[in-house]
Amino acid sequence: MALPPEYQTEEHRIFRESFRRFVAAEVTPHVDEWEAACAAPRSLWLKMGEQGFLCPWIPEEYGGLGLGFEYSVIINEELIRGDGFGVGVPLHSDVAAPYLAAYGTPEAKAAWLPDCVTGRVVTAVGFTEPEAGSDLAAIRTTAVRDGDHYILNGQKTFITNGYFADVIVTAVKTDPAAGHKGVSLILVHKDDPGFSRGAKLRKMGYHMQDTAELFFTDCRVPAWRLLGEENRGFRYLMEKLQQERLEVSIKCQVMAEECFKEGIEYAKTRRVFGKAVGEHQANAFRLAEMATEIELGRTFLDSVIVSHLRGENVVQKVSMAKLWLGEMVNRMAYQALQLHGGYGYMEEYRICRLTRDVRALSIFAGTSEIMKRIISGNLGLRSG
Ligand SMILES: Cc1cc2nc3c(=O)[nH]c(=O)nc-3n(C[C@H](O)[C@H](O)[C@H](O)COP(=O)(O)OP(=O)(O)OC[C@H]3O[C@@H](n4cnc5c(N)ncnc54)[C@H](O)[C@@H]3O)c2cc1C
Repeated sequence: MALPPEYQTEEHRIFRESFRRFVAAEVTPHVDEWEAACAAPRSLWLKMGEQGFLCPWIPEEYGGLGLGFEYSVIINEELIRGDGFGVGVPLHSDVAAPYLAAYGTPEAKAAWLPDCVTGRVVTAVGFTEPEAGSDLAAIRTTAVRDGDHYILNGQKTFITNGYFADVIVTAVKTDPAAGHKGVSLILVHKDDPGFSRGAKLRKMGYHMQDTAELFFTDCRVPAWRLLGEENRGFRYLMEKLQQERLEVSIKCQVMAEECFKEGIEYAKTRRVFGKAVGEHQANAFRLAEMATEIELGRTFLDSVIVSHLRGENVVQKVSMAKLWLGEMVNRMAYQALQLHGGYGYMEEYRICRLTRDVRALSIFAGTSEIMKRIISGNLGLRSG
């Protein structure tokens, strides 16, 4: 299934073309440099902002273009096709900033939404802690009300855009005894007293994505930064995690398509025992299986995107997509690298970085095991 015609109009085509040209000029040539620096520079964000490629869904009253999620899909896809696998823009545009738009006070929205569009404000989500990743109800960071402020104490880890983010959607406990019913979300600004960050974390892949630890030590945050109501944060997470998981599912599918492309191109050109690698039946069949999985993945993903665009409840389907595509992309990377032989292990070949980077996809935004927990729960099965 492809997206229906209303999501593939002439405007969508022009937007895609123009963003593809942008990526070819402003992203692809700098990938090695950003991988070495473990970050994409702020100048990229500002350039993207200037051209309307950040948070294109933000309403016009806040300086955005008021476009649908399908434009975010285009940006996510084209960034990957142009090798910007780890650019943290989809996390900013489609995961973090939506919390501000949906639950922020008018003061918070006026302060930051316009600059989420220009790139002067980069956002992140700070949920994971050293002792709580899958089990977010177990977070220990606390926020205690003190007059017009909250005082935060605790720590976050593995935070994407964490090193450069200006505003962080932070999960805290406002009622530590109440489990998931004591979770709230609050916006922390990088200049808040008591906020600090650790060094950029060294990772297996996604090198160009800055990932950091965050620390809150008697960190004073004005009370108007609370998102929605106190102790309702878990509910907001459950709502917004669906789009985050869809955003990651899109990454899985497009990166799988890129792995396949690398695999088949190489298999058609490299010759072994007098014929192309792909002409040996074992490899031809391997590629046939890969092509089938890619096709199945695309069809399912597009159906989930359409459901999401139509405002349907996608919890079950998006959990299935994140689960299956997160595992499928890892199979594709493994098989495509195998087709390359030793060359696939060399940095010079694109499949090398793809293989490294896709490994995180079955882990972040909820692991495969957590997706199975949600899916089986929705089937009426309560597992531990
Ligand atoms: C590159 C990268 C970027 C990230 N970016 C962010 C970010 O921007 N913001 C943020 O908040 N977090 C971020 N994360 C954190 C990520 O969401 C967590 O790593 C993930 O949710 C898993 O949590 P954990 O690492 O604590 O693993 P754990 O929760 O400790 O899980 C360990 C293992 O146990 C399994 N497991 C857990 N519970 C169950 C269960 N009930 N049944 C069966 N198995 C179970 C898991 O699947 C996993 O295999 C990022 C992580 C990475 C690697």
